[in-house]
Amino acid sequence: MIDLHTHTTFSDGTDSPTELINKAMAAGISVIGLTDHDSTSGWQEAVNALRPGISLVPGAEISCQTEDGISVHILGLLFDENDTALAKTMAQTRENRHGRMEKIIARINQAGIDITMADVLEQLSDGATLGRPHLADALVKKGVVSSRDEAFTQMLHNKSKYYVSHYSPTPEDAIKLIKSAGGVSVIAHPMASHRGRTISLETFGSLIRAGLDGIEVDHRDHSPDEKTQLIQLAREYNLVMTGASDYHGNGKLNLLGEYNTHPDQWERLEDRADKRRVIAG
Ligand code: AMP
Ligand code: ZN
Ligand code: FE
Ligand code: FE
Repeated sequence: MIDLHTHTTFSDGTDSPTELINKAMAAGISVIGLTDHDSTSGWQEAVNALRPGISLVPGAEISCQTEDGISVHILGLLFDENDTALAKTMAQTRENRHGRMEKIIARINQAGIDITMADVLEQLSDGATLGRPHLADALVKKGVVSSRDEAFTQMLHNKSKYYVSHYSPTPEDAIKLIKSAGGVSVIAHPMASHRGRTISLETFGSLIRAGLDGIEVDHRDHSPDEKTQLIQLAREYNLVMTGASDYHGNGKLNLLGEYNTHPDQWERLEDRADKRRVIAG
């Protein structure tokens, strides 16, 4: 089984890379993609945890924003982690996530809820990418809400009055950066409309022209209709179709391998990288 999109404690997942590899093996996964938000810091630990029977697809989920302000996530897989342009863009996003968090906290404080940056940072592992889930964890600890999910539905979703965006590259730039770093790009959960606004067909066209390799079709956040539309789009433009769990440990309901990628599609995707960078256990 091939699951190309997961998170660890190096961003907003709750399992370490070692735990992720062990759980993936137990779940019958043979190819696992590690795609922490805007970071490659978990790769080394994941490599060290590999054993025969499981291979690692090193990657990252790049936070992006379109010119008209729509949040888009681009999965970069099999790129060179030493590529300075891509590494610099991710570092800038990680840094800007801190200023953005201060702004979200200020808005929440204005509503009379007592929470500080220190409370949030206490929820973050060393060197991890900061995100709203860490704020959610801090709100749970304070007793404001009872779970990450409740924090998102009540307070932290993209349409909330507390929402603030952070610096991110455009998805076109991210796709080009991933490609020049030798990797392949897949747009993550492109139709997850309940999260906020989703991109138009015109934007899709622009991403394809920028070199997009694949579309994440099978994902928990897509309805059957949305999947049908994405399959049509992938066929029309000859894009690779993937499926993945977007596993976050116990931070989300998503289970490892709940959606996966067909081996033929994975073969096509891997062929589009400039080198074979899959790491065998
Ligand atoms: P941020 O990166 O700070 O914009 O936060 C977005 C992250 O929050 C996404 O990557 C999701 O994994 C997570 N998220 C979104 N909705 C929920 C939810 N309902 N429950 C738990 N995590 C969520
Ligand atoms: Zn996440
Ligand atoms: Fe995402
Ligand atoms: Fe994700």
